[in-house]
This record gives sequence, C-alpha cells and structure tokens, in this order.
Amino acid sequence: MTEISCTRCGEERATLDKLPFPDNLGARIQAEICRICWDEWLQRQMQLINHYALDVRTAEARDFLRRNVEAFLFGSGEADEIDTSQEGKLSW
Ligand SMILES: [Zn+2]
Repeated sequence: MTEISCTRCGEERATLDKLPFPDNLGARIQAEICRICWDEWLQRQMQLINHYALDVRTAEARDFLRRNVEAFLFGSGEADEIDTSQEGKLSW
C-alpha cells in the first residue's frame, strides 16, 4: 500500500490500488489522490448521474463525468452544479 500526501485534502493517506481510468488522468489520480477523496468523488458521481439522469454508456456522459472528476479532485476547470432547488423532484 502506498501513502501519499493527497493533493486534494493534504493528508497522508493510502492511494487507490488500481487505476480509476486507463489513461493520464487515471494515473494522475492514483499518484495524487487518496482513497477517502476518491470515495467522496464516487458519491458525488452518483449524485450527478442521478441528477442529470446520465446514461454512462454514452460518450457525452463520460465526457461530462471526466470534466467533473477533474474539477472535483484537482479544482481545475468547470464543475456542473447540482441545482438543489430541484431536490425532491427527481424520480429515483
Ligand atoms: Zn485526499
């Protein structure tokens, strides 16, 4: 198990065992982001998928999530906000 100083939370924590994505972004996440922050992203991702009713098999949804994972973990680029005024109006 590898411990790093996480870029997002600043704590010394364990990294992911596996690459979350098979590319540069995945390698960067594994090198710089701890498991706790990754778990937070997974929860956020689930909210986004539900909120926007994303079909993760589509390229659009994958692009959307990649944009948001970068914004969420590294604070770069634009994050899409969840409109909380719509809360409770979603069909889960
Ligand atoms: Zn972290």
